Amino acid sequence: TSSSSGSGDLYRYIRYNSNYTKSLADLHEELERLGYTRLPKGEGVGKEKYPLGDKEYFEDEHLGEVLFVFNGATTWWNKSRWYEDGGIILQDKASCMPAKVLMWAWEDDEGECIDATAAPGNKTSYVSALMGNKGILHAFERSPNRYKTLTRMLEKAHCKNVKAQRADFLESDPKDGEYKKVTRILLDPSCSGSGIVNRLDYLLEDDVEESDSKTERLEKLASFQLQMILHAFKFPSARRIVYSTCSIHPEEDERVVLAALQSKIAKDKGWKLAPREQVIPSWERRGRPEEIGGDEDLAQGVIRCLPEDRTNGFFVSCFVRDDPAGLSIS
Ligand code: SAM
Repeated sequence: TSSSSGSGDLYRYIRYNSNYTKSLADLHEELERLGYTRLPKGEGVGKEKYPLGDKEYFEDEHLGEVLFVFNGATTWWNKSRWYEDGGIILQDKASCMPAKVLMWAWEDDEGECIDATAAPGNKTSYVSALMGNKGILHAFERSPNRYKTLTRMLEKAHCKNVKAQRADFLESDPKDGEYKKVTRILLDPSCSGSGIVNRLDYLLEDDVEESDSKTERLEKLASFQLQMILHAFKFPSARRIVYSTCSIHPEEDERVVLAALQSKIAKDKGWKLAPREQVIPSWERRGRPEEIGGDEDLAQGVIRCLPEDRTNGFFVSCFVRDDPAGLSIS
């Protein structure tokens, strides 16, 4: 519950930022210096140690060696330079998943990426790190204030491969030569935020009028979210698009994905949903078949997270297509 936010009841997830000058071994050494003990990694939600002792941590099972799990009450970074220097990022586990799914089987020479809705930049900085801080990651953010936050975050996180612009993704021209090498797009658009239990990691914006009823609000958000996906479908070299929300409402999750798959443009351009094997297969909580046309395979392709998984509520999906015709990226 929100009242337990920041307390020992929750896990605190910390991501190692590989863009930083110091290594992962250095991070473990720093934790040892601070008196922390590393436990063997957890093996499945509910099987890992919980609650953790004040000075214990382990490597997350699903995100691998960049994400570490601590007792929710820890504040060790106040006694270390690692946070201030951008060596670690406080990021909920669920919020790490979209970048991980986007960058599945990435090869350095594949092309460029877009983060269409970037601020405050947690996912941008993770994609940047997964690209090895090389190549080009175009980052869009339309809100002027949030754009400032984004640029500060990118600097702090040592991102050298991000080309950030204060711009509306929907107004970008997919045919612009600037984007002709873009093969992967991350879409983490504004949503109701209904999944958030630990607000510390999130900076919510209020795009929708407070006076709207819940149904109207969800309808507006869902139609905007769908528009964003359909726009991303138009990028000529794109072959992988991740759509995520921190909402637990099917209206913003499976139903938006289904509408995107049923669109004319998806059919014309060959967009499908990625199979489970490409979308953190070991994560057990998948989509709700009844919300995605009763199709069990589609439901298996998407990920849901709930507070009982000791993360924020979240949704991750991934659209793919075979190499678009005429794609030549070198
Ligand atoms: N991915 C971010 C992270 O993990 O740090 C969080 C993104 S937040 C859920 C959505 C962001 O998208 C907000 O900062 C919002 O201002 C921005 N946004 C919404 N619509 C947009 C658009 N059409 N073009 C660019 N940015 C947009």
